[in-house]
Amino acid sequence: MDDCIFCRIVRGEIPADVVYRDELVTAFRDIEPMAPVHVLVIPVRHLQSTRDVELRDEPMLGRLLRVASVVAQQEGIADLGYRLTINTGRDGNQLVPHLHLHVMGGRMFGWPPG
Ligand code: 5GP
Ligand code: ZN
Repeated sequence: MDDCIFCRIVRGEIPADVVYRDELVTAFRDIEPMAPVHVLVIPVRHLQSTRDVELRDEPMLGRLLRVASVVAQQEGIADLGYRLTINTGRDGNQLVPHLHLHVMGGRMFGWPPG
């Protein structure tokens, strides 16, 4: 995806505060954080959303969650807890059409979400 903003971050064409990177996923700080810690973990392979997940994505999806856990530890939010969110499509309020997992912490979150 040439013009996908998150693909461009993966390729280093757009600057981002990258906190983790491997062959399957990249994690970087959200540009408009909604919490003291707000990191996005995304697949290197372009997938528009969870609607496009295929069998071959299972290793990446496992990595996505494990890296979220590692990032939470590194950022010091693991003990008190944090919120993991994936928005999908219009009703999910997904704005960037490249699958991403929000890792947010450092404050209390409400439930249910608004
Ligand atoms: P969504 O609503 O799609 O789940 O969330 C997209 C997130 O991407 C938002 O929290 C937004 O602040 C973040 N975002 C959008 N563009 C950029 C960017 O260019 N760089 C970074 N680091 N985050 C971005
Ligand atoms: Zn992309």
